[in-house]
Amino acid sequence: MPLPFEMNPCLKTLPVYQPGRPIEEVARELNLPPENIIKLASNENPLGPSRRAVAAMRAALAKAHLYPDGNAFYLKRKLAEKLQVTPANLLLGNGSNEVLEVVGHALLHPGAEVVVSQYCFAVYPIVTALFGGTLVVVPAQKYGHDLDAMLAAITPQTRVVFVANPNNPTGTTVTPDQLRKFIEAVPPQVVIALDEAYIEFLDDALDLLPVIRDGSRPNLLLMRTFSKIHGLAGLRLGYGIGHPDLIAEFEKIRQPFNLNAIAQAGALAALDDIGHSDRTRKNNRRGLKLYAKAFRKLGLEFVPSGANFILVRVGDGLKVFNDLQSLGVIVRPMGGYQLPEWIRISVGTPKENARCLEALTQVLGKSAPAPASD
Ligand SMILES: *Cc1c(COP(=O)(O)O)cnc(C)c1O
Repeated sequence: MPLPFEMNPCLKTLPVYQPGRPIEEVARELNLPPENIIKLASNENPLGPSRRAVAAMRAALAKAHLYPDGNAFYLKRKLAEKLQVTPANLLLGNGSNEVLEVVGHALLHPGAEVVVSQYCFAVYPIVTALFGGTLVVVPAQKYGHDLDAMLAAITPQTRVVFVANPNNPTGTTVTPDQLRKFIEAVPPQVVIALDEAYIEFLDDALDLLPVIRDGSRPNLLLMRTFSKIHGLAGLRLGYGIGHPDLIAEFEKIRQPFNLNAIAQAGALAALDDIGHSDRTRKNNRRGLKLYAKAFRKLGLEFVPSGANFILVRVGDGLKVFNDLQSLGVIVRPMGGYQLPEWIRISVGTPKENARCLEALTQVLGKSAPAPASD
């Protein structure tokens, strides 16, 4: 039934985010016990949360009747210490997804242009559409960002350029040199929203914190998250790092209590758990190697990944996704990213990876694998 009142016109064409399917949902649908299902669909940390974070959250539960610290004083202070910036450089968000939305609120309006790469993270087009902005999509280069072309796509109407390094869903990275040159070349009136959700998985990442510290580029915003390396996706906690004047504007927009008290306690403890982060990186490195080797053996084209997932070309991506799911392995189909022949697999534990590869081999035996092309 059409609603008898006028809605925000952007809702007519607003894309809807398609998350990875939750284990419980698939279990209900297939009538399987949830313990028999593995999820490699949302780039979650296969080692789980840090045990220290869990203990801190448990302790925080006793004070759940109190509002959280709206300014997250202790978490901001600790994060600032760790990054060697000041708390005024930090915007904490309910996931970095909230930071992305704050960017939209602060900078976009009808007519504003937003430059992204083909195969960019699905949230950038959603945020752009939500605020009536115009999306300018720059063709990818080998599934990754073509930074020179993105620079050339900037016009006087451009307000924001989104770059994810590594990129999701392709796992591609730009070189430190390319990124440095790009940041130097973007005009100061265009905000560079650099999504570093997977930065901790890179060995040779360009360190842009000195640029934040010296305050020379108020148009640079780095975005990071506790969802990936720290294994706290369920808490919803991400952050932006930027010039204090930019952060002060963002602070006006966010909800007063956007970070719940349990999340603040968990994240604070997680920052101390270096061992957990190291184990996560190690497991990930091994998993990526295993997948690359197996895909070569199966004759499957894949995109070398700098993140905690890998994109692989399987032929009919939706069919393979469905067939894997019926074997209790949830991965991510890529049709929504205009990559219908591909699926994205998050790196799991060694046991999960082995099970996924076994299932994939079985599934592809039935529906001929796509020939690897270059
Ligand atoms: C996972 C991910 C995030 C993190 O989102 P949260 O809201 O912090 O969970 C941000 N950007 C990209 C590209 C991602 O893949």
